[in-house]
Order: sequence, then structure tokens, then C-alpha cells
Amino acid sequence: MALPDVAACLTHRARPPRDYDGRMEFATRAIHAGQAPDPATGAVITPIYQTSTFAQEAVGVHKGYDYARVANPTRTALEECLASLENAAHGHAFSSGIGATTTIMHLIDPGDLVVCVNDVYGGTYRMFSQVYAPKGYRFTYATPEELSAGAATLLTGARLVWIESPTNPLLNLVDIAAVAQAARAAGALLVVDNTFATPYLQTPLDLGADLVVHSTTKYLGGHSDVVGGFAATNDPTVAEQLRFLQKTLGAVPGPFDAWLVLRGLKTLAVRMERHCENARRVVAFLSEHPRVTRVLWPGLPDHPGHAIAGRQMRDFGAMVSFLLETEEEAVDLVSRTELWTLAESLGGVESLIEHPARMTHASTAAGPFAAPANLVRLSVGIESADDLVDDLARALAAAPARA
Ligand SMILES: *Cc1c(COP(=O)(O)O)cnc(C)c1O
Repeated sequence: MALPDVAACLTHRARPPRDYDGRMEFATRAIHAGQAPDPATGAVITPIYQTSTFAQEAVGVHKGYDYARVANPTRTALEECLASLENAAHGHAFSSGIGATTTIMHLIDPGDLVVCVNDVYGGTYRMFSQVYAPKGYRFTYATPEELSAGAATLLTGARLVWIESPTNPLLNLVDIAAVAQAARAAGALLVVDNTFATPYLQTPLDLGADLVVHSTTKYLGGHSDVVGGFAATNDPTVAEQLRFLQKTLGAVPGPFDAWLVLRGLKTLAVRMERHCENARRVVAFLSEHPRVTRVLWPGLPDHPGHAIAGRQMRDFGAMVSFLLETEEEAVDLVSRTELWTLAESLGGVESLIEHPARMTHASTAAGPFAAPANLVRLSVGIESADDLVDDLARALAAAPARA
């Protein structure tokens, strides 16, 4: 099957975004924002300030740092860099994506209503349904289509709207600008989990979202060697509340983890370009394979979110899902690849393959949003695309034929 010309599909914009004061391009900010040479020594790379406390000249007189849960210079560099990439005025780093999520949940109170996209990250659904719902928080779940329709009535009474786009693992698209408008009309805060797209492909605050949240464990760290989270906003009141909650709830990253994410960010622009290019090659291969019944990737013209992706993303990302005929075939295939590692998580330089229904989405298996049992999810890495396709071809040829 012939793939469409990328530039023709992408009406949003072909160039990465500029920062909020319009000075430098994305690839430059990914390397330099928040990271002037170290003022103490001239070190070009931000040092790992492995310290829990900071000397004061007199009581309360210090250089902006007193205790490392409150602030640490390595973490500050990460917060400034990533805020710049999301075109945000304020950024907050956390110990994990889930740590960011639970901190954001403290912006609202028991009894409040959260409207959430149904195809949400399994760990987010587990937190909402098993931790916050029993405490009296209320949740309703809407499909990406319902949310994209932008009806304010869907959000009536909501305090928070929680979406992902593309979603996981079905790669559905939610029209962020439409939901943002509806959320504003309903008086709710819109949170966008931007983990799958990264700010290189999509900047939700520019589309009207109030908060953007990340698992930096994925593409932002990019090397599968760190767990981290991040949240950013342009709203000074929300930012102040988040800063208070960050130090008060304490889900902060250590300096070495902050440094690993900073190091990963430096190559985000080149990695994302290669990730997307490789995904295009893998999708072209899978689309023509007789054992694959359907490929789910927003870049395909028959994908239901293709037009929305063209409006709000700069390319189509490197998460690819596909359906085989049966669950047995899907489970069999994921253990037959050699180069593609069978593992949870995503967004690293290495390619991963997994079976969502039994792995990443096992926690939603009993709920209303179970992943299809015949679904396989790929995180396409930045190895040689030829090698990636060859390995998939071998595994698909070796697996048992359809019953
Ligand atoms: C991994 C992930 C999270 C959770 O992040 P952790 O760093 O594992 O806590 C949240 N949302 C999405 C979309 C994810 O992929």
C-alpha cells in the first residue's frame, strides 16, 4: 500500500515550534535552554548537584536553594529546558509520570468530577479507579470521538478533563483544540498527557490546554535508563499551586535522574525525526503483509484520526499497533522477534514489541477498556529500518499460520 506524502497530510506546520519569546528553534532549545555553562566552574554540561542541602550565608540568605526536595539546580535546568520545549512559562519535574499525575490530582477535591478519555494509559486508569474513586472523586469516561466533537455538555460540572493524544494502545486522536474550547466553556482545567507525541510533534498548550504532563521515562529520556515525570502550564496560579504540591507531596526526581533526562533531551529532535521515519517504513511493510489484518497508525489515510493528526501534530509518531487474526498469533509473534525486544514501556532508541492485553494493559483487562486480545504494539526505535523490517518479516513467516 502506498503511503501518503507527509508534507501534504500535515496542515499544522512543518517546522518545529519557536519558544514563547520567539528566540530560538526547538532543536537549539533542547540543547541549551536552562543550561548556560555552570556559573561556579564553567562546566559546559550542567553538573549533577548531588546534595540534599545548601549552605546559607545568614539565616534565610542563600543563592535560591535551601533544601533539595524544594529545589535543586540540576532539576531546575531540566524544568526550564522542558518548559521551553512545551512553550510553557512554568515547568515542574517529578519522580515519575505517575508522580506528576497524582500531584495534579491534588489540584482538585473529593467529590469533584473528572472527565477522562477512555483509551487512557493503564496506570492512570488504575490510579483513578482504584485510588481516587474510592475516596469520592468522580470519573466519567468518554471516547476520543465524543471528546473531539467538542460539546461543552459532555464536560458539564467537570473540574478536570484528562486526555491523551495519540492514545495508548489504539493510537486514537483527540482534537485538542476542540476539547480545550469545550473545557473553557465548562470551567474545567484541561490536562493533556503528551508522552506519546512529545513536544517535538505536538505542543498542547499552544492548542489551548491548561496543563501538559509527561512520563519523561519514554521519549524525553529516550534511552530506557531513567523513570521520571513532568508537568507544565502557562497559568501562574496553577503553577504556584503545583510548586507548592511538588515540595509538599514530595514526588521529586533525584539530581542524577534529572540529569539523565536533560542529557536525553539534547538529542530529542534528531531522535524523533528518525523514529518517525522508521515508523513509516515499518508501517509500509506491515500494511502489505497478508497476516496483518489492520495497522493502527495516525499517518495512514484510513485512520479515523488522520485529519486531526494533520492539524495538531508535526509528524505521526513512532508508536504503531496492528492486529493479527487471533490472540494466539499475537502472543506467539511477540516472542519470536530477535531485534525487537519483548518489553513494556516505549520511546527508547531500541525497538520494543509487546502484547498490550496481557502486558501494559493487563490492569484494564477487567474494565470497560480492555485492549483487543489480537493487538500487538510496537515502539519503533532508531536502529536501521532495514534490520527492523527484516526481523518482523522473519517472525511473521515463522509464526504459525492462521487456524
Ligand atoms: C508510562 C506512561 C505514564 C506513566 O509514567 P511513569 O513514568 O511510568 O510513571 C503515563 N502516561 C503515559 C502515556 C505513559 O506511557
